[in-house]
Amino acid sequence: MKKENSSGYYAKSCSFCGRSQEEIDGLMIPGGPDAAICQDCIDICNSVLAANRRSMAEPVGEIPTPMHIKDRLDEYIIGQEYAKQVLAVAVYNHYKRIKYVEENGEFAEVDLEKTNILLVGPTGCGKTLAAQTLSKVLSVPFAIGDATTLTEAGYVGEDVENLLVRLLQSADYEVSNAERGIVYVDEVDKIGQKTVNVSITRDVGGEGVQQALLKMLEGTVSNVPPKGGRKHPEQEFIRVDTGNILFICGGSFNGVENIIAERVDRKTIGFHEGGAGVSKENYRELVSLIEPEDIVKFGLIPEFVGRIPVVVPFYPLDKEALVKVLLDPRNALVKQYKALFEMEGKQLEFTTEALRAIAAKAEDKGTGARALRGIVEGLLLEIMYDLPGNHPRGTKFVITEDAITGKGKPVIEHPDKTDKDKRERA
Ligand code: ADP
Repeated sequence: MKKENSSGYYAKSCSFCGRSQEEIDGLMIPGGPDAAICQDCIDICNSVLAANRRSMAEPVGEIPTPMHIKDRLDEYIIGQEYAKQVLAVAVYNHYKRIKYVEENGEFAEVDLEKTNILLVGPTGCGKTLAAQTLSKVLSVPFAIGDATTLTEAGYVGEDVENLLVRLLQSADYEVSNAERGIVYVDEVDKIGQKTVNVSITRDVGGEGVQQALLKMLEGTVSNVPPKGGRKHPEQEFIRVDTGNILFICGGSFNGVENIIAERVDRKTIGFHEGGAGVSKENYRELVSLIEPEDIVKFGLIPEFVGRIPVVVPFYPLDKEALVKVLLDPRNALVKQYKALFEMEGKQLEFTTEALRAIAAKAEDKGTGARALRGIVEGLLLEIMYDLPGNHPRGTKFVITEDAITGKGKPVIEHPDKTDKDKRERA
């Protein structure tokens, strides 16, 4: 029997696999009164096409210089000067290596090894942002994954290959393009801890995941299910070579400063065991001395650490830096909200004290710059709710310190009121 689908066409079943609308998960796309294709068959076609496109790989073009990369990072990332410099050089060398191998092939005289990167620093200080911005600067596909959700193949959870599924999606299934992308794996510190919860169905974290990630970091040809999810034998796979994919791992590594302090001369560093812990200044100083061996001591297996030899420290953002995060980046929150208000012919202003109060509030939450958006959004919600209807063009909204601390409300200046005030004052 013919059946009407959501787009109003009549199509019986998929002309490729023969299944009806009821038997498939997604959409059935009609191709005419008697032809249709289901979403699964489209995915399979896509993967076949993508595999064919592999031979049309574009050579690596002009690589931006480390200085240019750092300049672009500066547009988005406040502080973290050392990290930005190390990243710029590491990423430049990574793509130079790919280019060298491409140009020289088997005649390459030097074996340049891939150098993945590890970012160490507290939550919300710009690690993910840095990885993401690098992919933008280099115009390469980008994917983010969380190591704590990954499991070894065969366990319930996310296969490590799913990281590559996301990368493929970001590359529009152009395999050769994905094979030069950047994958950011967050929270790798959590798979190192020796107290992982062992259960029969789920080995979240632990050595199994490190081993699986290790293979990818080293370079392997992975069989990736085009739609992600679990692998099953009848499925078509896309073969992705991870040899040139840059893996950037990140983690907060809470307590690694104590491991570093044990290694270095405590007196020089002013660290006193049994005291009140490591002060902010000492934390910065200690983390700047981080070495791969500290990461091994923390609990990651040496082979894994061996594959992420560039260890880059990120520092917590202080109040001044948080104020700059609100104001300076190209996509700074204050710039974004001001633009939204301006689109309606209205103005938004924050006093300097208000900005400092927002920064202080964010600092208290202990999640770095991550807390800023929630605070600003919560603050402006009410105003934005009646922004289009209730205020005439030319209205100015001034966010004061009292509005942040709850002692007062934002000051609203209507244009007629301002004019009247001016006349009265004159
Ligand atoms: P994490 O270090 O936990 O990976 P993120 O990079 O995800 O932190 O930061 C969360 C958000 O906070 C970013 O999207 C960005 O808006 C802001 N942010 C964090 N650090 C910085 C920074 N150094 N400069 C500018 N914005 C930042």
